[in-house]
Amino acid sequence: MPPIIKTPKCTGCGACENICPGDLMVVEEGKALCRSRRDCWDCMSCVKVCPAQALEIRIPYQLGYYPAKLVPEMQGKEIIWTVTDLDGKEEKFTVKVRN
Ligand code: SF4
Ligand code: SF4
Repeated sequence: MPPIIKTPKCTGCGACENICPGDLMVVEEGKALCRSRRDCWDCMSCVKVCPAQALEIRIPYQLGYYPAKLVPEMQGKEIIWTVTDLDGKEEKFTVKVRN
């Protein structure tokens, strides 16, 4: 499932376009889009690199039903993951990064 793009938040910086290993993310007219949704393999590189938190992953039906979502925020050597469940309840998890 490709990332959900929160278009109003997107600044068109191109970081997602540069990092996508499948060359799927592009910036057109100043906003990001995924040009081949079916080819996305959920590596989440684009979601993690976005400095504007404009990208988020919807947790699949089998795991959390569609409205549940996962949004990362890079903070130096850590990623703070915000998980939102079906009822809007949020939990945050901090994970150290290796690079
Ligand atoms: S999740 Fe990975 S493969 Fe999918 S669009 Fe983002 S960077 Fe590309
Ligand atoms: S990294 Fe985020 S802000 Fe930058 S172009 Fe992609 S979606 Fe937009």
